[in-house]
Amino acid sequence: MAEFAEPLQRLIAELEKLPGVGARTAERLAYHLLKIDRDDAMALARAIRDVKERLKTCQICFNMTDGELCRICSDRSRDPSLVCVVEHVRDLIALEKVGSFQGLYHVLGGKVAPSEGKSIQSTTLGALLARVKKGVIKEVILATNPDAEGDATSLSIGQHLHNSSVKVTRLARGIPVGGSIEFANVEMLREAMSGRQEAGNK
Ligand SMILES: [Zn+2]
Repeated sequence: MAEFAEPLQRLIAELEKLPGVGARTAERLAYHLLKIDRDDAMALARAIRDVKERLKTCQICFNMTDGELCRICSDRSRDPSLVCVVEHVRDLIALEKVGSFQGLYHVLGGKVAPSEGKSIQSTTLGALLARVKKGVIKEVILATNPDAEGDATSLSIGQHLHNSSVKVTRLARGIPVGGSIEFANVEMLREAMSGRQEAGNK
């Protein structure tokens, strides 16, 4: 890349690190950024900086937020007795797109993955148990992904909630095994949510 001026070289190298961006696309994007208005280019730079510097995790549910609590936890019209447990924020976003769920969420930030040495303790389970202990939650909906690790995660959470008085349910098996909540379509997710069943580990 010695043919490019140093700042341009650096931009291409950074763009090339993005998923799905090869050397040629990185060059094309870099030329595009060179060409556009300074304001537009700076808006992109600021947007990147802001997601890294201003986004925090919600103190209650671990969703992303730029305040103390996320917009879902601060929404008084939502039902605090219903909590849907997901692996990642992107799963929460997929379920929110369905628009039918009126409860709150809990983002685990991970899952049980024995091959990577990750137990349920590597997730935010402790915070979920503390939320349940407060007595407001009546139902915990396990919405982990339908794969071996997601199943192991749900099973473990079910066991930890075994002695509490909350009802523990799982999404109906609408999403194909090995598929993911993130990429399931809206209809599928709506059916999986409305057809949820009591988890069989009581
Ligand atoms: Zn929240």
